[in-house]
Amino acid sequence: MVLLMAAATCRALADAPADLVVTGGKVVTMDPRCPVAEAIAVRGERIVAVGSVADVAAEIGPDTRVLAVDGCLVIPGFIEGHGHFLGLGQSKQMLNCAAAASWDEIVAQVAQAAGQRPAGTWILGRGWHQSKWSVPPSPHVEGTPTHEALSRAAPHHPVLLTHASGHMCIVNAKALELAAIDAHTVPPPGGEILRDAAGQPTGVLRENAMELVDRARTAAERDRTPRQQREEYLRAIELASAECLRYGVTTFCDAGAPFNVIDVYRDLAAAGTLQVRLWVMVGEDNDALAERLARYRLINAGHHHLTVRAVKRLIDGALGSHGAWLLEPYADLPTSRGLNTLALDELERTAELCLAHDCQLCVHAIGDRANREVLDLYARVLRGRDGRGLRWRIEHAQHLHPHDLPRFAELGVIAAMQSIHATSDGPFVVARLGERRAREGAYAWKSLLESGAVIANGSDVPVEPIDPLAGFYAAVTRRMADGVCFFPAQCMTREQALRSFTRDAAYAACEDDLKGSLTPGKLADLVVLSQDILTIPEEALRDTEVRYTIVGGQVRYARP
Ligand SMILES: [Zn+2]
Repeated sequence: MVLLMAAATCRALADAPADLVVTGGKVVTMDPRCPVAEAIAVRGERIVAVGSVADVAAEIGPDTRVLAVDGCLVIPGFIEGHGHFLGLGQSKQMLNCAAAASWDEIVAQVAQAAGQRPAGTWILGRGWHQSKWSVPPSPHVEGTPTHEALSRAAPHHPVLLTHASGHMCIVNAKALELAAIDAHTVPPPGGEILRDAAGQPTGVLRENAMELVDRARTAAERDRTPRQQREEYLRAIELASAECLRYGVTTFCDAGAPFNVIDVYRDLAAAGTLQVRLWVMVGEDNDALAERLARYRLINAGHHHLTVRAVKRLIDGALGSHGAWLLEPYADLPTSRGLNTLALDELERTAELCLAHDCQLCVHAIGDRANREVLDLYARVLRGRDGRGLRWRIEHAQHLHPHDLPRFAELGVIAAMQSIHATSDGPFVVARLGERRAREGAYAWKSLLESGAVIANGSDVPVEPIDPLAGFYAAVTRRMADGVCFFPAQCMTREQALRSFTRDAAYAACEDDLKGSLTPGKLADLVVLSQDILTIPEEALRDTEVRYTIVGGQVRYARP
């Protein structure tokens, strides 16, 4: 696609000066009627004009805030097409121990965390690795630290720090106490409780012994009062919102929230305190949906900050764990074709509920068998209806049989994919599927786009980092961490990648009338980037910074 300078200003009828003008950059609107401009004017929460610097200057009044963004790129706000909002916030509350240079540093991290949260709440962390420290821990048992310093740093908080491998953890005295682990505890089969010379537990638990502490932790979660639970949700939402804004995400599609979380979203929307727009898939079973979906369906609440009009189900697992449901056995596990995690008649009942309540259905399907079953079911249930109107989705759509590729476009089914998965899974995909299957149908973005399908992009955060620019890079390069390209024939163009994070992600949420392009009349959700990701050399893409994130005309993030 060649982007030409618009001949005329695109403008809505404006009878008062703008509240905000962003000017002097390159504005890529994603609106084919006016694809490129130099400035944009906003009044209230809406865009009122897009055009040249001179044209838009006419909208500036004495009280207009003018943001000069020379040399920057202005694009529609990124839409995270599939992530887990609360999970993102919760992941930010875990301590990241991966960067620590010593055990003492980790103990200091924990002491600081303990000072910031009420006694009794769990402090979770992950990523420590004793062989990456500049000095060995002292004292130590089998090279791993013992809990005393940790217990002194957080005497009133249970602490659980998972090893980088995920196969070992260290806990403090409070956690040992809650898990009832002492000198006499017999570890479960396949587990090990490390002990010091006196026979006391050091706090390090290996493999299945980690279950003892995990059980204590989840029991504590069940014991929370509704008020405590709500406060935890609020804290997670605050952290998730900040992370979104920092990375230029103005709308977040939450891939499966239970009703009690949606209650909190609704309260925040009503109070006008949601910082990021949420579009929510309900994550509940059929009985709960039948009983409550009608009461939870909600469109554009809180000045377009909350919409609940979709349902999420999962039909299989993931490729990494051999859980994706395949038509043929795994190349590296010939006894298995993966797992079907939801009975098809159950899914059919969900589909009927979605039709009855005018909701989009979003089904997680990763393997080619899972994708075929969902497409077959959609074809059966939607017979006689226009799939394009309903915009039902398949989440991930990672591995497709070549015969099923054109069916997305034929049925009007949206592929909600996460380009970053291709480059992070890439190293093991060929082992799982073999070369031919991987080449023909794994993360087959180009083939889907060429067939006329719509792809909504996202990150599946916290599975992957939310950063849409990392997703953009993965989409256009398919370059893995080792620099090798994962079947580069399936790369998107830069315009396609940007569309998948803006216009097409809005379409996939039935919100293209409001979002996804910088068009007068639409919501003023935009991002200012430090450089032009449509034209700079590939190797410079990763240096791009988000300068401003603007939601509904309000600057909600400005790079310090
Ligand atoms: Zn997900």
